[in-house]
Amino acid sequence: MARLLVTGGAGYIGAHTMVELLAAGHNVICLDNFSNSVPEAVARVQQIAGRAVTLAIGDVRDDALLRRLLAEHPIDAVIHFAALKAVGESVARPLDYYDNNVYGTLVLLRAMAAAGVKRIVFSSSATVYGAPEQLPLTEGAPVRTTNPYGASKAMVEQMLRDLCAADPEWSAVSLRYFNPIGAHASGRIGEDPRDTPNNLFPYVTQVAVGKRERLSIWGNDWPTPDGTGVRDYLHVVDLAAGHLRAVDYSAAHQGFMPINLGTGRGTSVLELVRAFESATGIAIPHSFAPRRPGDIAACWADPSLAARLLGWRAERSVEQACADGWRWQQHNPEGYRAGK
Ligand code: NAD
Ligand code: UDP
Repeated sequence: MARLLVTGGAGYIGAHTMVELLAAGHNVICLDNFSNSVPEAVARVQQIAGRAVTLAIGDVRDDALLRRLLAEHPIDAVIHFAALKAVGESVARPLDYYDNNVYGTLVLLRAMAAAGVKRIVFSSSATVYGAPEQLPLTEGAPVRTTNPYGASKAMVEQMLRDLCAADPEWSAVSLRYFNPIGAHASGRIGEDPRDTPNNLFPYVTQVAVGKRERLSIWGNDWPTPDGTGVRDYLHVVDLAAGHLRAVDYSAAHQGFMPINLGTGRGTSVLELVRAFESATGIAIPHSFAPRRPGDIAACWADPSLAARLLGWRAERSVEQACADGWRWQQHNPEGYRAGK
């Protein structure tokens, strides 16, 4: 069993991943500055798993803290979630994104190198592909970012590629997530946006619970079968399981490897709304609005490399994700803040 440092472990994907890691018997040290999460998430992860997490409260940009953590704990590998992730905010505050996401990773990598820890699983994103020329997207598609958030992910990938080229002992798996949705089946952990959700799924669950009046669908004139945007929505627990496989893979393979994590299926906004309605029995009032600036028509993964290298496939349906995401929202209408 490995001893893993998980940065950003209290966040949406990190919390689900820590549950899977603990269930598999790994020991987990979580580093989070709670800039976009709360300690209650870690408490609930521990309740679900029935095991303790070692929690370090702090920032990945804190070089002294990183070096101390890596010296005090015999870490086998790092899973690096900690980042800012809102595309629109990244356009308004690019330097904050380069500071947190790029400089933060640089500090982390330097501290890892100094400690001789040379295995990392990195949270990348399908956004590095920009507007796809061909679908499904394979890892060979050009990296062409369209906003500072995407650029920060592409820059970190470049650093990892260069580092692996310079020192063949390094192993860096860059997981390019498509659109994670849903929640743990217990309904105890889930996505907890601080402000108005930017993403479709949490917006839908907030309409369902009565916090928002109606969903605006950004465009019904896209070149897609029903005119609404198409994405590859994958259940967050499937995504979490992908990290488990990636950690195992990184133990046996050196070098830089970007890997898509998606289902391979595209779902339109209207299809997602219908899936949610049929999984929960709750109507989602919606209306059409103009396209969102910077949006793309369609994006879905070719997930065959993940199947081949990691033995990973998404197993849960969009309907399952809707039912699980709704359970979380229904039982936690104010997210973790209600402290239930
Ligand atoms: P999240 O905001 O819920 O989780 C990120 C966590 O990192 C939070 O707990 C936050 O407090 C912490 N954090 C941020 N900056 C930090 C810092 N400097 N030091 C320490 N902790 C810090 O986001 P998420 O949805 O769980 O995303 C996790 C990762 O996956 C991010 O890197 C994100 O860019 C990437 N990603 C997310 C999506 C998505 O749709 N959610 C898609 C593709 C990629
Ligand atoms: N979307 C929408 N209304 C919303 C939020 C999103 O119609 O309130 C659409 C968006 O235009 C896109 C899809 O839902 O077609 C997924 O958007 P999201 O922001 O969740 O993911 P991303 O665009 O980053 O892949």
